[in-house]
Formats: sequence, structure tokens, C-alpha cells
Amino acid sequence: MTTSHHAPPDKYQDIRDAVRALCAEFPDAYHRQADAQRAYPEAFVAALTKAGWMAALIPQEYGGSGLGLTEASVIMEEINRSGGNSGACHGQMYNMGTLLRHGSRAQKELYLPRIARGEWRLQSMGVTEPGTGTDTTKIKTSAVKKGDRYLVNGQKVWISRVQHSDWMILLARTTPLAEVARKSEGMSIFMVDLRQAEKSGMTVRPIPNMVNHETNELFFENLEIPAENLIGQEGQGFRYILDGLNAERTLIAAECIGDGYWFIDRITRYAKERNVFGRPIGQNQGVQFPIAQAYIELEAANLMRWQACALFDAQQSCGAQANMAKYLAAKASWEAANVCLQYHGGFGFACEYDVERKFRETRLYQVAPISTNLIYAYVAEHVLGLPRSF
Ligand SMILES: Cc1cc2nc3c(=O)[nH]c(=O)nc-3n(C[C@H](O)[C@H](O)[C@H](O)COP(=O)(O)OP(=O)(O)OC[C@H]3O[C@@H](n4cnc5c(N)ncnc54)[C@H](O)[C@@H]3O)c2cc1C
Repeated sequence: MTTSHHAPPDKYQDIRDAVRALCAEFPDAYHRQADAQRAYPEAFVAALTKAGWMAALIPQEYGGSGLGLTEASVIMEEINRSGGNSGACHGQMYNMGTLLRHGSRAQKELYLPRIARGEWRLQSMGVTEPGTGTDTTKIKTSAVKKGDRYLVNGQKVWISRVQHSDWMILLARTTPLAEVARKSEGMSIFMVDLRQAEKSGMTVRPIPNMVNHETNELFFENLEIPAENLIGQEGQGFRYILDGLNAERTLIAAECIGDGYWFIDRITRYAKERNVFGRPIGQNQGVQFPIAQAYIELEAANLMRWQACALFDAQQSCGAQANMAKYLAAKASWEAANVCLQYHGGFGFACEYDVERKFRETRLYQVAPISTNLIYAYVAEHVLGLPRSF
């Protein structure tokens, strides 16, 4: 369904039309069934990859389309706006940024063209650990160099798409915390060949969860990684991960914006059609106003998303805008979800309306990939200069 309201076509209309046409081949029933079966939307992701959309940010010299973050964000927005969920595949779009920025020429030539062609999926990034949570510098997973290999031991949690990825970027400590001058030093990132690792050194335990999202606990016991799989310099991995966060946050913001429009479209249509007390429910201001309010807040959040994209594409610092866009968009999509569910009445709870599914999906973005409190902390400390709290 295309949107019935607002905004004249923007300059990304060609991208929108093309992504919408592809998404239209995967209607609500497809995503609903995948959700009910907790099945990976393989055909959907394969079609997006084959059409080149997942390679938007890979430079042309490596076989991608070399688009900016703005265009990439439109792709993500449209996927979510179509009723799908970019969470199944967004890692493929942005995880490669770490390789692009910090990988050697040889690594880029090895991985990027294959990722662009969809032969290899680099959908996973292993950072979070059960005993550490958001306090990433305390991670306990260690990688110890032994000749031409690193030996990895430890544990990760909530690592997404491992079963539908060929490669994972792994953050591990290469120098113990007690031996580094700054806690952000001494961590490194590696490319992990997942199928190889599953054969020896890594155990995957899926985590059943609230949404149709493949995510896992990982256990490492003497996992061997060839030394050439280290990305960039040893000890600098935490900084490399941080470098990728602005793009990730901005793309997630665009996904939330897509969700928000989906909720507003659905409830606007429903409120016009559903007759109770002899009139459409949408004729009651008690119903109209919350929908209008959610729409206004969504539009406002979208402005911050465009600003974050523009700064990023102009290679200007955009940490504040990327974080604020993610915060505002996740909040706006959640409020739109609530309104959409509320004014569908009982039907909001019926799976066949898809509202409850999207409601669950958009709720995640208050928690992952970064929780709301951590955005407040970023803005308080880095934008407002308030004293550091952790
Ligand atoms: C479905 C899903 C997929 C995920 N995929 C991945 C993935 O692919 N790779 C990966 O590495 N991680 C992944 N994660 C992990 C995700 O990034 C974390 O769950 C998230 O960052 C929050 O960390 P935590 O769960 O450890 O919460 P905790 O750090 O334990 O925090 C719990 C709560 O307390 C709050 N809190 C903590 N400290 C403070 C403080 N000082 N001040 C104020 N509030 C505080 C937090 O904001 C949060 O709300 C995923 C998580 C989910 C749920």
C-alpha cells in the first residue's frame, strides 16, 4: 500500500518506487506467516540483495552502488513502510562499513565485492556480553595471539542473524583491561567465518524472543581465527565499532520512520472505514487527535533523520543528530504503534491485521541497538557538557 497522505514526491522517489515494487511482491501475509513460524524471511532478503539494495553503501569500485546514507536510509524506510522488517537484513547494509573504513586493501578486495554480489552475508556483529551489558569496555571475551592465529574464549549474547550470515565481526579483548592505559583500548575486531566456527570453537544457542528476529547466545572455546582476519590495528577495535554507530543509528531511525508511516496509514484508513455509533470512529476528535499528534511527532522526528543523513553524507560530525534522530524516531514510531493498536480496538490484537506484529517489532528500537537512556547519557555528556556519569 502506498501512503495516502502528505509530502509531495521527494527526490528519492525513484528509489522509493523501486523498493516499493519489490516489497509489494512480499505482502502482509508473507511477513505474518514468517512471524508465526519464527522463520527467517529468506526469499525477501534474497530479493533485496539480488536487486542490489543491500549493497547501497558499498563503493562502486567494490561492486556496490556507492550511494549516500540518505539514499540508504530511504531503502530501509521503505522496507519497514511496506510492512516488512529491515531487522532481518540491515546488518548486511552497514556492518561492512567497519571493513570499508578500517580494513586493508586486500581485505576490502576479498570481502566487499562478494558482499555486494550477495555471495557472502556479513550480517552479524558480536559485541554484547551477558555479564557486561552496555558497559562494553568490560567485555570478557578474549583473543590471544598464538603464532599465526588468535584463540578466542568467552561468551556473547543477543548476537543477531548468525544462522543467516557467513561472516561476523567480533569484538574481543586482546589486552586485559588491567594492562591498558584507557579502558577503551586493548580490544580488537575480527572477521569470523561462521560456518567454520560452528564446526569447531563456537556454539550457537538461539534465544526465543518477542519478535521474529534470529538472535543468539554464542559460546567460544578455543575458537581459532587466522591472524589475517584482524581488522585494522590490534587494540583499536572499540574505536572502530564506535565509528560505525552514527550510520547504524541513522538507518535505524529511518526504519522507525517507515514503521511510523505504516501505523499512521493503517489507522487513518481504518478510522475512516470503521463505523460505530453510526459514524466512522475517525470522526470523533477523541480518535482523530491522538492520530494527528502521532503524525506530527513522526514528521518532526523525520526532520532530524534527514539532518543526520545530510551531515553524515557531507562528512561532518553527526553524533548528536544521529543519536537524537534514533531517539525521536523510535519514540514517534512507538507512539504511532500505540495509537494504531488502540483505535483498531479488539482487531488490533488479531494477527491478521498485522498491527500487533509491527507493534512488537517497533518496540525493540527503544532497547536495541542502543537503549534510550544511553542516548540521554550521550546528549547530556557530549552535547551539553554535563559531568560524565560512567
Ligand atoms: C533483539 C535484539 C537483538 C540484538 N542484536 C544484537 C547484535 O546483533 N549484536 C550485539 O552485539 N548486541 C545485540 N543486541 C544487544 C543490545 O545492543 C543490548 O540489549 C542493548 O544495548 C542493551 O544492553 P543490555 O541488554 O545489556 O542492557 P543493560 O546494559 O543491562 O541495561 C539494562 C537497562 O538499564 C539501563 N541502564 C544501564 N546502565 C545505565 C546507566 N548508567 N544509566 C541509566 N540507565 C542505564 C539501560 O538503558 C537499559 O534500559 C540485541 C538485543 C536485542 C534485544
